[in-house]
Amino acid sequence: MDFSLPEELLQLKAMVRKFTEHELFPLEKTVIEREAGRGLTDLPALPPEDETRLMQRTAELGLWGLDVPAQFGGQGLGALAKTVVVEELNRSIVPFTLPPDAPNLNFLLEACSEEQFEKYLIPYAKGEKLSALALTEPNAGSDAGAIQMRADFIDGHWLLNGSKMFISYARKVDFFIVIAVSDRQKGKRGGFTAFLVDQGAPGLHIMRNVNTIGEMLTYELVFEDLELDPGQVLGEPGQAFIPLQNRLGVRRLELAARCLGYADRLIHLMIEQANVRQTFGKPLADRQAVQWWISDSLMELHAARLMTYHAAWKADQGARDLRQEAAMVKVFATEMLAKVADRAIQVHGGMGLSKELPIEYIYRLARIFRIVEGPSEIHRWLLARETFKQGKPYDMFRL
Ligand SMILES: Cc1cc2nc3c(=O)[nH]c(=O)nc-3n(C[C@H](O)[C@H](O)[C@H](O)COP(=O)(O)OP(=O)(O)OC[C@H]3O[C@@H](n4cnc5c(N)ncnc54)[C@H](O)[C@@H]3O)c2cc1C
Repeated sequence: MDFSLPEELLQLKAMVRKFTEHELFPLEKTVIEREAGRGLTDLPALPPEDETRLMQRTAELGLWGLDVPAQFGGQGLGALAKTVVVEELNRSIVPFTLPPDAPNLNFLLEACSEEQFEKYLIPYAKGEKLSALALTEPNAGSDAGAIQMRADFIDGHWLLNGSKMFISYARKVDFFIVIAVSDRQKGKRGGFTAFLVDQGAPGLHIMRNVNTIGEMLTYELVFEDLELDPGQVLGEPGQAFIPLQNRLGVRRLELAARCLGYADRLIHLMIEQANVRQTFGKPLADRQAVQWWISDSLMELHAARLMTYHAAWKADQGARDLRQEAAMVKVFATEMLAKVADRAIQVHGGMGLSKELPIEYIYRLARIFRIVEGPSEIHRWLLARETFKQGKPYDMFRL
């Protein structure tokens, strides 16, 4: 068993670490201030001019398209490389994502037709287009099988009617992957269809931004007799559920990698504070309570990292079914981050709660992460269901 990272990944990791420290850390104060000051508006936390500069810089460093297969103009480095990079970037709170955003890429790779390659996949893979997944509805989130949005095939066209809720960055993206019910009888087993809907399509209304805690911007969408050609169906009609599940699995690994980066940063901050801050004539580092917070955080981060890297490694070995791994790392890493962020606040006292440091920002992100991409309870339930079905515990060696 080999736990070392290959030399090229070590180099990549070192390069991204330098980028994070030189380019992202200096922007943190701005991000904290903008996020705190935007109130109920949808002002992005990262100024657009800074985002453009970071995009150019990462393009120069060759950091785009890391996990895009070579035939689509990417580097084809795979899931482990992406995990290493996402972890390093997320040692900073600056909300900067390298193009392309992997989960939707995987959906497109799995389901695009040849015509759709040119219009959607290639520009998306090159970082020229952004997309969002529109799945959640006002009455269906965890239970994605309960979505109501209708897709009716009438006179050679599809008509979409219904609403979607909490759709991230809806105003910014170029197109949406929209999941709708094309056959109510079949439901998620053959009755869900995915559609490619361009930004600004007649009948698509972005009703309002729905502000939540944390930096993410989400929106409510309404679709009113939105008409689409059959060429806008992504994959086979009625067959959206499987690529959708795979897409959600990739996002869960990515979310876990983000948690590793944030937790690593928090532990660094805790160590620094414990060494510097004196109370009652001694540094906090001498207090057993503080030592235990740091030790517990180290152990939990280590376990989460092993699980996440293992899942990414499995993906790179060609494992198709990563549902159990995705569920485990999503729950474990997000709950690990919540605990580490809570301890980091406690070690820092009042300063931990202040907006002078990035700690309370991460604390709030950690709270979101336990709900987005499926709440912890759903993943625990899925894991138990799969385990009972198989009648034996999880086998980490099974590909
Ligand atoms: C910041 C943010 C960004 C988002 N971005 C997107 C996006 O881009 N696209 C998109 O489609 N969606 C997006 N979502 C929606 C997100 O995926 C849903 O909020 C999430 O899946 C939970 O659904 P819900 O909010 O409807 O909660 P509900 O389904 O109402 O569940 C509420 C709670 O009930 C409990 N629960 C539910 N079912 C069970 C069960 N079977 N057993 C035990 N407990 C249960 C859980 O604790 C859960 O937290 C986003 C949400 C947020 C907050």
